[in-house]
Amino acid sequence: GRLKKGLSKTRRGFVSQIQGLFKGYSSINEELFEDLEEILIQADVGVHTTMKLVENLKERADEEKIKDPSQLMGLLKDELTELLNAEGGIETQDKPTVLMVVGVNGVGKTTTIGKIAKRAKNANKKVLLAAGDTFRAAAIEQLQAWAAEVGTELISHQEGADAAAVAYDAVQAAKSRDNDLLIVDTAGRLHTQENLMEELKKVKKVITREAGDEMRVEVLLVLDATTGQNAVSQAKKFDQAVDVDGIALTKLDGTAKGGVVISVTEELDIPIKLIGVGEDVADLQDFEVDSFIAALFD
Ligand code: GDP
Repeated sequence: GRLKKGLSKTRRGFVSQIQGLFKGYSSINEELFEDLEEILIQADVGVHTTMKLVENLKERADEEKIKDPSQLMGLLKDELTELLNAEGGIETQDKPTVLMVVGVNGVGKTTTIGKIAKRAKNANKKVLLAAGDTFRAAAIEQLQAWAAEVGTELISHQEGADAAAVAYDAVQAAKSRDNDLLIVDTAGRLHTQENLMEELKKVKKVITREAGDEMRVEVLLVLDATTGQNAVSQAKKFDQAVDVDGIALTKLDGTAKGGVVISVTEELDIPIKLIGVGEDVADLQDFEVDSFIAALFD
């Protein structure tokens, strides 16, 4: 369905290269593994993760006395499933949740917030949005538009206001209005990254303090899959500043190098919770390892 369609570039890209590679060799040898390494690195799997993956594959092929290269595909799928194993989705069941959404401008943060809000609303959750990117008037307006479309309330201040003050008001409002889910947008300007990280730290501190025991706090980082290894280095910076709990990886439909899914998970040890495979609301999906691997390879 949608997932398979959204991943078609990656299927035609690195997945078919791997399939071709395994078909092209009549026996398993060092050269095959070197070619595999090259394909994986070019597909943005990341050097470190690629080495580990290929090493594991070699060991297993050896242990299981596999002679036919075509059998490597099954092993590779197993290894990838193990690497990617994580809980998908944003949990809103047990306790009211504050979802702080971070990421640099243009990655699809606002769209992701809108989509999460819409899905939660459809699941009969009481949702509140907060326009915490006070740096750009357009960001506040975009969120207003989503709030109107989804039918949720929005907490916003003037452009240039203190983002932490917006967060404070939003958490107070969510508690008094018994919201199930408060989604706080944040700034993502790139040119003043030092200030941005300081601002995000402050926002998280205020959210955590005001949420107290009443609300769970979760930080979701939105990354653009088409930026490849850049996404990985961005993630490291955000994680250092605000301790990221989960990742939404957008625009997987726009890249043939879907390998970034693997390097993000492995090199950061942060689970991917959502993936975006298109511009439609239905294209933001909970990340489920088995269906993801099946959509890629089957
Ligand atoms: P923000 O600056 O991070 O808030 O980014 P926006 O939410 O405004 O999104 C930037 C652009 O990316 C918009 O045109 C979105 O429609 C588009 N976008 C977001 N997610 C996806 C996705 O999964 N696939 C595709 N193809 N486009 C996406």
